[in-house]
Amino acid sequence: MASRKGCVLCNGERRALVKIPSTLAPSCKECFFLHLENNVYNTIVRHALFKPGDRVAIAASGGKDSTVLAHVMTTLNKRHKLGLDLFLLSIDEGITGYRDDSLETVKRNEQQYGVPLKIVSYEELYGWTMDAIVKQIGLKNNCTFCGVFRRQALDRGAAMLKVDHIVTGHNADDIAETVLMNIMRGDFARLQRCTAIQTATDETIPRSKPFKYTYEKEIVMYAYFKKLDYFSTECIYSPNAYRGYARAFLKDLESIRPSAILDIIHAGEWYQSAQQVKINVPVAGGAGCGGTCVRCGYMSSSGLCKACVLLGGLDRGRPRRAIAADAE
Ligand code: SF4
Repeated sequence: MASRKGCVLCNGERRALVKIPSTLAPSCKECFFLHLENNVYNTIVRHALFKPGDRVAIAASGGKDSTVLAHVMTTLNKRHKLGLDLFLLSIDEGITGYRDDSLETVKRNEQQYGVPLKIVSYEELYGWTMDAIVKQIGLKNNCTFCGVFRRQALDRGAAMLKVDHIVTGHNADDIAETVLMNIMRGDFARLQRCTAIQTATDETIPRSKPFKYTYEKEIVMYAYFKKLDYFSTECIYSPNAYRGYARAFLKDLESIRPSAILDIIHAGEWYQSAQQVKINVPVAGGAGCGGTCVRCGYMSSSGLCKACVLLGGLDRGRPRRAIAADAE
């Protein structure tokens, strides 16, 4: 990583210590920090993600992506006077030895960044922890349950905080991997949607990805050189084999062509603008009541939302319980 050359971004004023991952340009630490922060700022401005006075929840897991996102969002909010009211929003899936430890990091981040923290747990919302779910169903479909529950939990937590917007730490590598996975599955409806920087429906709070064009390596380097306090252990229930293949393939491509990650995202964007694939969005007047789940009230295109369908299977043989919608 080190180089004797001068930094190309400040015209050799300082010595280059790193290479910018997307271009391999030699850079000093100071210019590298500005490069990443300006990249995120330009993404926010170009896509008009926020307006002054917006309440914005940063989805915070304690991992490197969301910790760097919290750091960069607070930095940009002050530097550019964005006028945002920032919050940290964490989901406690109930995974002993993983999420309990990472939440301790988020609690420290709350103090370090001076941003209020709200934690919402699966146990309070659904009556189940991931530990209990894995005990019941094993390690086969655990991430399906976890993904469906997390999506709803984030919406419910955001509603409790009364925010206008949720930002997540998905980076360029994550998005390029998803493009590849959708191509490999032949899922063209998802391929069309997966590069969108912002997702929103009438029923849900807009979510966006300010790191859409930021490489994972940049985030790791930023966290390392800024000495940020983050948690780096993988989930103990993580199988995710299919994404693992896409990730390994992407890393190989990146090693011979650093722009491959951005190239794949741009290819997905071109596909998005060129195609008119019919998207299956929740509709009013579906089998439920006006596009909402008859059991918990969350948006749904059929009678029960995905979480209630999954809970129905889990709860068989246990007293029937509803998602704690009244927690909102
Ligand atoms: Fe949940 Fe699976 Fe992620 Fe673990 S790896 S946090 S179980 S989605």
